[in-house]
Amino acid sequence: MEIGVLGGGAGGMMAAVFAAKAGARVAVLERNEKLGKKMFISGKGRCNLTNAAKGQEFLDNIVRNPRFLYSAFHFFSNEDLCALMEGEAGVPLKLERGGRMFPQTDKSSDVIRGLERLLDRYKVRVSLRTQVRAVEILPDGGFLVTTNLGQKRFDRLILSLGGLSYPATGSDGDGFRLAAALGHTIEKPLPSLVPMETVEDWPRTLSGLTLKNVTLTAKAGKKALFSEMGEMLFTHFGISGPLVLSLSARVTGLDVSTIGLRLDLKPGLTREQLLKRIDRDIEQAPKKQLQSLLFGLEPHALAPILAQTAGLQTDTPCNRLNARQREALAEAVKGLPLHIRALRPIEEAIVTRGGVNVREVDPHTMESKRVKGLYFAGEMLDVDALTGGFNMQIAFSTGALAGSSAARQTETEEVVP
Ligand SMILES: Cc1cc2nc3c(=O)[nH]c(=O)nc-3n(C[C@H](O)[C@H](O)[C@H](O)COP(=O)(O)OP(=O)(O)OC[C@H]3O[C@@H](n4cnc5c(N)ncnc54)[C@H](O)[C@@H]3O)c2cc1C
Repeated sequence: MEIGVLGGGAGGMMAAVFAAKAGARVAVLERNEKLGKKMFISGKGRCNLTNAAKGQEFLDNIVRNPRFLYSAFHFFSNEDLCALMEGEAGVPLKLERGGRMFPQTDKSSDVIRGLERLLDRYKVRVSLRTQVRAVEILPDGGFLVTTNLGQKRFDRLILSLGGLSYPATGSDGDGFRLAAALGHTIEKPLPSLVPMETVEDWPRTLSGLTLKNVTLTAKAGKKALFSEMGEMLFTHFGISGPLVLSLSARVTGLDVSTIGLRLDLKPGLTREQLLKRIDRDIEQAPKKQLQSLLFGLEPHALAPILAQTAGLQTDTPCNRLNARQREALAEAVKGLPLHIRALRPIEEAIVTRGGVNVREVDPHTMESKRVKGLYFAGEMLDVDALTGGFNMQIAFSTGALAGSSAARQTETEEVVP
């Protein structure tokens, strides 16, 4: 009895470890020349492999189909992952802000090496430069996998071929094509955790500017979609940074032309407090131009944008500003309007929304409800989360459960005469 794991990313490696640990013969087929290419670039090369958040707090960060993941997280939690990495895999970890867990060395390659040590220990065969082209279900319930190197039969198969984002890492949608050919419904793949292009031109003129401790709010008509404080960044196409990536997870798939964004540059002050501060600044230096007043409030580069939004000239002497104009200024600082033209393409997304419909997969085993002996793990499932290590944990947890279930099923069947 042999289990084939298709894809050697986070999900596939963990699936192989758990299947082999449970006693199965396991082979990983990976198209790249090495394992874990996406993991290598993750977390800016540091690999934020999980998050220390507990229970519901952890689940609150799963955006798509969190309930589907209950059993997988229960089977192999973030704490279990840390114990495995720090113990058997020999990779000491550290905790950073927001519960993010990283290898102590800050090197994603050490996480990959740790997993490779486990694959070695449990005698998993790894076949690199092996591109899976087709999967056929055999009359005896086994699977015939066709690759660039030939054909191979497996008794059980775990598909962990990733999504569509960052295709240069190897996950270019093959997983979706293979799953669809095996009878699975693929929910439309969409970009999530992705930067955005804006309708307004001015963000592009500020490319490289980072804003810290600002609040970004999104509404569609009166419906609140998102409101969070944090960091964002202007780029040559629009906006990016942690706040914008989180926002993208809430709006991907929606008609973005109906969404209005507001940027509060001074979330620590109420409108009234800000107006008082503007009045006080003007009283202290009445002859100052509006531009200098704004320099005291915000990064210099934003001054002309704020003045323009308030319908004012930057060279207006401050003591000429009437009450209505001061209010317009406060309004611009507390709610600078922005509009989304488009989310950047899926190739630039940190994670893929969509994929194998989870209603067709048993959440307690990760086995397909359509094809016996077929299992799924990782990003190719229609589950995704916010940044912070949650997506990698999804891959590890679903991988561990798929691997263990596939091996258990194999074991049970082997003892039945
Ligand atoms: C830039 C970037 C940074 C990220 N940073 C983080 C982070 O810090 N923390 C976090 O939690 N998440 C992060 N993520 C997301 C996270 O990396 C993924 O969600 C996770 O790696 C998914 O693992 P996976 O095993 O499901 O898929 P993948 O890692 O994509 O693995 C799939 C594997 O299947 C292989 N494959 C595909 N098709 C075939 C085929 N036909 N034949 C053979 N092999 C094939 C691929 O080569 C690939 O190795 C980041 C993503 C990106 C793009």
